[in-house]
Amino acid sequence: MNFYIMTLFPEMVMGGLNNSIIKRALEKDLVQIEAVNIRDYTIDKHNKVDDYPFGGGAGMLMQAQPVYDCYLAIRKKIGETAPRVLYMSPQGKTFTQEMANELSKEENLILLCGHYEGIDQRVLDRMNVEEVSIGDYVLTGGELPAMVITDTVARLVPGVLNNDDSALDESFSDGLLEYPQYTRPEEWDGIKVPEVLLSGHHKNIAEWRHEMALENTKNKRPELYEAYILKHPPVEKKKRRRKKTDD
Ligand code: SAM
Repeated sequence: MNFYIMTLFPEMVMGGLNNSIIKRALEKDLVQIEAVNIRDYTIDKHNKVDDYPFGGGAGMLMQAQPVYDCYLAIRKKIGETAPRVLYMSPQGKTFTQEMANELSKEENLILLCGHYEGIDQRVLDRMNVEEVSIGDYVLTGGELPAMVITDTVARLVPGVLNNDDSALDESFSDGLLEYPQYTRPEEWDGIKVPEVLLSGHHKNIAEWRHEMALENTKNKRPELYEAYILKHPPVEKKKRRRKKTDD
C-alpha cells in the first residue's frame, strides 16, 4: 500500500513514522510512505506557498497553485484514475477504526496536510477531497493527523504486524474494548496473574477474555457496550431438560 503525504514539513512526518513496526514495514516494502513537500511545487520566486485571506481575517491561507501542482505530480506517478484524497481537517468526519479498516483496502492513498488557517477552498473542491478529523480540537497543522491515520491504516496491511490475528483482537475491532493482559512474572509485588490464563485451556481462556472485554467496555465506554449488546443480545443458556423418570 502506498501513502503519499502532501505537507510543508516532510521531515516531521517521516521522523514520526519511520520507527518501530512501521519502519520494519517500510524496510520489507509492505508499505511505501512518501512525504511530498508542497513547497517544491510553488512557482513563486520567493518560494511562498501562502497568502492573506480575501475578505480579511486572522492568519494566512495555503494557496491553490502549489497544492494542486503537487497533487498532479503524485497523480502522474501513481498513474491511476482517481485515488482517494483525505484532507486533514477539524471540520471532517471523525476518524475511526472502521474507517481505518476500509482505507487499508486501498492501493494508494493521498493525505493532504493543511497549515496556517487552512487551504484555499477552490483547490480542495477541484481535488474532490474527503475531509477527515482526528477529534474536536484544532492543531497547528495536518501533519500529526496524517501520521495518526497512516500509522493506524498501515498496521492493518497484511504482514505488517507479526501476527495478523493481533489486529483482530484489539479494541474496537469487534465493537468492544480489549480484555486486560498480563506478562511474566506470574506473580509481581504479591499480585498473581488470573489463574485461567495459566491453565492452557484455550476455550476457557477465550471465554474469560470475552467476559473481561464486555466488563471493560461496560465500565469505560458504556455507549459502545450498549451498541454491542443491541447487535449481540446475550443468549440464555439452554435449560437442561430433566429426564423424566417413573419413580
Ligand atoms: N481554520 C481552520 C478551521 O477553523 O477549521 C483550522 C486550521 S488549522 C489551524 C490548520 C490545519 O491543521 C488544518 O488545515 C488541518 O489540516 C489541520 N488540523 C487541525 N486540527 C485538525 C484536526 N482536529 N483533525 C485533522 N486536521 C486538523
